[in-house]
Amino acid sequence: MAAKAECLFCKIGSGQIPSKVVWQDEELFAFEDINPQAPVHVLVIPKRHIGGLSDAGDRALLGRLLETAALVAKKKGIAESGYRVVANTGREGGQTVFHLHVHVLGGRQMTWPPG
Ligand code: 5GP
Ligand code: ZN
Repeated sequence: MAAKAECLFCKIGSGQIPSKVVWQDEELFAFEDINPQAPVHVLVIPKRHIGGLSDAGDRALLGRLLETAALVAKKKGIAESGYRVVANTGREGGQTVFHLHVHVLGGRQMTWPPG
């Protein structure tokens, strides 16, 4: 699907709404979360609109999304110490922005189970 006019992350991914860009290529966009939950908190999104993990249906893109999460961790200096990659999905999964994204969190000890 092309960009959805009312979608916040479509606007961020296209640069229409400014963000602190960490990395991007033609397909994917990584930027700092506005409300960080850890010293490092970056979101990685596809530039094209996909509602969430269950709507992706694109194995190659999902692979590159995860690969990019690992790349971001390296760029932010947390690859060695460790980090967490999260895809909140749907209402009970805690998803609040309905454009596929993974959180890359690190720079502190993560706890389990998540809330
Ligand atoms: P979710 O709750 O859907 O898994 O994650 C949405 C994330 O987007 C939240 O962590 C929230 O802080 C972040 N977020 C919401 N609005 C904005 C925004 O305008 N800019 C940035 N950089 N992050 C945002
Ligand atoms: Zn979107």
